Amino acid sequence: MQFVPALLPSLIQAIDQVIETNAEEVTALDQAIGDGDHVTNLQRGIKALVAQSDELAQLDWAAAWQKIGMTMMTAVGGASGSLYGTLFVAMSKAAREQPLDLQAFAEIFSSGVDAVKLRGKADAGEKTMLDVLIPVAAGLRQGAADGVALADVLGNVARTAIAGMESTRDMLATKGRASFLEERSRGHIDAGAKTSQLMICALVGVLAERLTAPA
Ligand code: ADP
Ligand code: MG
Repeated sequence: MQFVPALLPSLIQAIDQVIETNAEEVTALDQAIGDGDHVTNLQRGIKALVAQSDELAQLDWAAAWQKIGMTMMTAVGGASGSLYGTLFVAMSKAAREQPLDLQAFAEIFSSGVDAVKLRGKADAGEKTMLDVLIPVAAGLRQGAADGVALADVLGNVARTAIAGMESTRDMLATKGRASFLEERSRGHIDAGAKTSQLMICALVGVLAERLTAPA
């Protein structure tokens, strides 16, 4: 399998589907400690990406990530729109002319996550999407450094994303709307951590399937 933008339509479709399937659950999470709009915000962005799918498939990674980032920024709105937008725009800036192997992707994704940390003035342990994104970025870098087989890296990424999402349940929120609740923010999974995990697991699912499919 070559990791090329031609994969984007099926990746975007998988994300669209997983968010649709879990919309009610995520809305309930954002209602518990936020304002309840997270899924609607995100779905607006994903629908815009679905509409751009064919166009995105023709671009190189730098241009595709730039376009995805701008679409997320303008179509999603809310805190998550600018954060997801920042992730992809920073990935675009970090993209280089080279075959996109695991190590290159791990570095590019990590640059994106670093930009989200700066933009949100947040770090791991604050009950946000970063509690999924940071360990996933670290796992990718570690997998690349250790020369782990791609199929195993994908499995590890999915497990890491789920563990990160689960870890937000008992955290105290110190960023975003949930922080207004202080101690009462504990006991609920963060909505942005949940959608990040769902999207990452959906991406892993598509890639794992491609990996085992006959060429
Ligand atoms: P809003 O909070 O503006 O209504 P959304 O509901 O779309 O925006 O997104 C909320 C999610 O954004 C949270 O669940 C959290 O994961 C993430 N988030 C909010 N603030 C920050 C921040 N400063 N850094 C990182 N992530 C954040
Ligand atoms: Mg919200």
